[in-house]
Amino acid sequence: MKHVVVVGSGASGVHFAQSALDNGWRVTLVDVGRTAPAAELPQASFAQLKREHPDPAGYFLGQRFEGALFPGGKGEYYGFPPHKGYIFAPLDGLALRSRGFDPLLSFARGGLAEAWTGGSFPFTPDELRDFPFEPERLVRYYGVIAGRIGVSGAVDDLARFLPGHEHLAPGLRLDAHSEVLLGAYERAKPRLNRELRCFVGRSRSAVRADEREERHGCTYLGRCLWSCPREALYTPSITLRALLRREGFTYIPDHVVTRVEADDANRVKRVHARHVANGAALELDAPRVAFAAGTLASSKLLLDSLLAHGGAAPTLTGLMDNRQVLVPFVNLALLRKRVELDSYQYHQLALGLERDDPRHYVHGLVTTLKSALIHPIVQSVPLDLASALWIFRNAHAALGLVNVNFHDERRESCSLSLETARDESSTLLVRYEPAAQEPERIRSTLRDVKRALRQLGCFAPPGMTHVRPMGASVHYAGVLPMQREGGDLTTTPHGESRALGGLYFVDGSTFPFLPAKNLTFTLMANAARIADEAFGR
Ligand SMILES: Cc1cc2nc3c(=O)[nH]c(=O)nc-3n(C[C@H](O)[C@H](O)[C@H](O)COP(=O)(O)OP(=O)(O)OC[C@H]3O[C@@H](n4cnc5c(N)ncnc54)[C@H](O)[C@@H]3O)c2cc1C
Ligand code: SF4
Repeated sequence: MKHVVVVGSGASGVHFAQSALDNGWRVTLVDVGRTAPAAELPQASFAQLKREHPDPAGYFLGQRFEGALFPGGKGEYYGFPPHKGYIFAPLDGLALRSRGFDPLLSFARGGLAEAWTGGSFPFTPDELRDFPFEPERLVRYYGVIAGRIGVSGAVDDLARFLPGHEHLAPGLRLDAHSEVLLGAYERAKPRLNRELRCFVGRSRSAVRADEREERHGCTYLGRCLWSCPREALYTPSITLRALLRREGFTYIPDHVVTRVEADDANRVKRVHARHVANGAALELDAPRVAFAAGTLASSKLLLDSLLAHGGAAPTLTGLMDNRQVLVPFVNLALLRKRVELDSYQYHQLALGLERDDPRHYVHGLVTTLKSALIHPIVQSVPLDLASALWIFRNAHAALGLVNVNFHDERRESCSLSLETARDESSTLLVRYEPAAQEPERIRSTLRDVKRALRQLGCFAPPGMTHVRPMGASVHYAGVLPMQREGGDLTTTPHGESRALGGLYFVDGSTFPFLPAKNLTFTLMANAARIADEAFGR
């Protein structure tokens, strides 16, 4: 039986592994793979959790208040819940330094998408123009992945930006605020569409209302941010659990891969790893290896491998990420109304702005405020605490946030390189410089978003818009672009490295362009495509 070693159990790794197994390959998945704590009071709604948890402050804010966002911080409106700390905990020995970029990595079982908000948006053929194959070769895998993970939404006014695909289930029940917004959109639509080229519709999310295999449907517990105890919201660890029961699949957790070794013909032959706790070395012979450690970690692995193989590590250019801008808003129709805590917590609507170049489409995720952490919002109101709390209580049901996403392109000035120390340890240097046109692009887009909000009966309070630092969207891509032909620092259309044969990149490292959309649905589709096309029967 043919054998492939996969590195990483995130969204990319598990879907690559599933398709490779389906194609008759034996798969060994090596992973740091930190595990999640068990769900607490799994039947409880958000309000019940607050009432019935023995230590609600510890649960929601952490024993050391690590879930709290303090005044004067980075202007974020969401903190990570303390029990999700395992997802983002750094790894000893994986050193990073960055300029112009706030990198976030995960060494969890399931990776970063154990904390994602489930947004699953297909790329259009225009957005796939730089991918070196017919768009249909990737597009058909959106249906395959939706069938596996369960995606819900609708084919509506946003279909021009978010094409339909197979296995798209109807959207969840809308929360009251999202319903009001959609009603306002129907009334304001002619002007919004014509004057601002702004379209609103249902978001697409990896969450379903129906029962699926071992997963339960969404019952609107309203605790999505604190991890869905029903597994209605998809995470990659669900797929990993299913893979563990399959013949031909071996999972090796608690190991950090340090490099691959190649033969004289520059083809991979061995994977080197060490035990996370005791440092014991592990070597696996493998003629085929798939890196799915996430763009930054996979790139570091390649650079460390090239350094060991040829004595030099090049600079990888073209790092991309989506700039995100958070625009909080108040819906005047909902001031002093009761808030509905028993609702799905993440974005149920999306807002798309058409641009002359379809690849410059602007993507907004509209999240209405229900059961989130309230202190980051209260403390951002420029008044004393008592007044800010009074305003918050009266405005809670009326609050929302548009997370505006911008596209990115590969540029020489955005790069990854290695710095080595005398003891042979290496540090990954991440450098990012925004495009020269970015300030004007953000300014004109925010003007349009705020106008659109006004047409929907909302206003964006001045001074609360927050431009997130690069790196914050965690949609990293682009340093080893897939190309039909290219040099050593490119890959084939199947993600196979041109520097080391038999080494495949099945995560975002190979994307030649990054549209404004969250990329994980496309990461999974592309990983399944590579497994079928290059690891077929
Ligand atoms: C809060 C938040 C919300 C998000 N929301 C969305 C969203 O709504 N929609 C969307 O599309 N995207 C979203 N994302 C982004 C999404 O989570 C990532 O794009 C996606 O998880 C990347 O998956 P990956 O498999 O490529 O890599 P990762 O998730 O980074 O997985 C990497 C895996 O590799 C393993 N690993 C790493 N290095 C090594 C090593 N050297 N040796 C062994 N194992 C290693 C890790 O243990 C991990 O299992 C969100 C991210 C965050 C943080
Ligand atoms: S509302 Fe969120 S936490 Fe509750 S069942 Fe639905 S997805 Fe899960």
